[in-house]
Amino acid sequence: MILVTGGAGYIGSHTCVELLNAGKEIVVLDNFANSSRKSLERVLQISRKPFAVVEGDIRDQAVLEKTLKDFGCTAVIHFAGLKSVLESVNSPLDYYDNNVIGSHRLLRAMQTSGVKRMIFSSSATVYGDPKFLPYTEDHPLNPVNPYGRTKLIVEEMLRDLSASDPTWSIGILRYFNPIGAHESGLIGEDPKGVPNNLLPFVAQVAVGRRERLNIWGNDYDTADGTGVRDYIHVVDLAQGHVAALKSLEQTGCFALNLGTGRGNSVLEVVKAFEQASGKPIPYDMRPRRSGDIASCYAATDRATRYLGGWRATRDIETMCRDHWRWQSQNPNGYAG
Ligand code: NAD
Ligand code: UDP
Repeated sequence: MILVTGGAGYIGSHTCVELLNAGKEIVVLDNFANSSRKSLERVLQISRKPFAVVEGDIRDQAVLEKTLKDFGCTAVIHFAGLKSVLESVNSPLDYYDNNVIGSHRLLRAMQTSGVKRMIFSSSATVYGDPKFLPYTEDHPLNPVNPYGRTKLIVEEMLRDLSASDPTWSIGILRYFNPIGAHESGLIGEDPKGVPNNLLPFVAQVAVGRRERLNIWGNDYDTADGTGVRDYIHVVDLAQGHVAALKSLEQTGCFALNLGTGRGNSVLEVVKAFEQASGKPIPYDMRPRRSGDIASCYAATDRATRYLGGWRATRDIETMCRDHWRWQSQNPNGYAG
C-alpha cells in the first residue's frame, strides 16, 4: 500500500492513475487546499479501481501515523505542498510551514511507523541561475526564491536522514515544466485564480476565458528571444514515479531530473498550442518577468539509468493536444 500525499492535485492525480494501472494499492491524503475531490472521482472513472481517500493535512502527525498504520503503508509518494513562486515571495512563512514543517512531520510519522521509503517532489528551481546547461543533478543548488528554498531544505533533510540511517530508501525527483493532461481529457491542471504558468494561461486564452497572453520578454539570449523551458508531459512524469518506486527497492538517497532534455521557447509553445486547438492565441510582448532565466533544460541520462530505461516520450504537439482536450472539455476546470 502506498500513501500518496497531495494525490488530488495536478501531478498527484495523474500519478494515481498510473499507479492503479500498474496494479498498486493506494491511499490518498489531501487537505484539498489547492484541489477538488472531483479529480479523485475522475481517477476512479479512468482506472476503474477503487482506492482510499483521507482528508487530512501533512502537518497533522497523528493523522499521518494513523493512516500509515491503518492502511499498512510501505512507501510514501509525497506531492503535498504549495507551489507558487510568486505567492512564496509574498507569504514565505506559509510556504515554510506547509512545505518544510509539513514534510518534517511526515518524515517523523514515517520514522515512528517504520515506513522508510519515500519519493519526494522537488523541482528544477533548486538549481537557480544556470552555471551550465543542461542542468545535471550535480549542478550547484542555489534557489533564488522562497519556494525553491523550501524544496532545497527538504532535500537536505532527506539526505541527512539517509546518511544517519542507511535503511531508508529515498528518491528525490526534480521536475522540469509539467504540462498536458491525461488523454481521456478527464483530469488536468486546474489552477485557482489567474494562472502564473504559461500553459494554463495559454489554454484559458484559447478557450475564451482570457483575452490575450503576455509574453514576458523577447530579448533573451535564445533563438527567438523568448524564454526556453523543458516541458514534460504530465503522464510521462507520472510514469517516472512508478519507475522510481521500483528503484526504492534499494536503500540510499538519489536525486534525479525528470525532463525531456529538450527546450521549447514561449513562441514555439504558442504556435504548437494554436495548431493543437485551432484557436488563435493573441499576445503582447512585455518586459521580462523578474526572477526569470533565459533557458532551463535537463540532463536526462541519470534518470534513464536509475529508472530502468524510463524516459519521457511525448512531444510538445502531444502535450498541447492533450492539454487542449482537458481545457476544452472542462472550460472551468473541475468547477463544471
Ligand atoms: P497541486 O497544487 O495541483 O497539488 C498539490 C496537492 O497537495 C493539492 O491537492 C493540495 O490540495 C495538496 N496539499 C497542499 N498542502 C497540503 C497539506 N498541508 N496537507 C495535505 N495536502 C496538501 O500541485 P502539483 O502541480 O500537482 O505539484 C505537486 C508537487 O510537485 C508539489 O510539491 C510541487 O511543489 C511539485 N512541483 C510541481 C511543479 C509544477 O510545475 N506543477 C514543478 C516542480 C515541482
Ligand atoms: N511566460 C510568459 N507568459 C506567461 C507565463 C509564462 O511569457 O503568462 C513565460 C515565462 O517567462 C517563461 C515560460 O513562459 O519563459 C515558462 O513560464 P512558467 O511560469 O510556466 O514556468 P517557469 O518560469 O517556472 O519555468
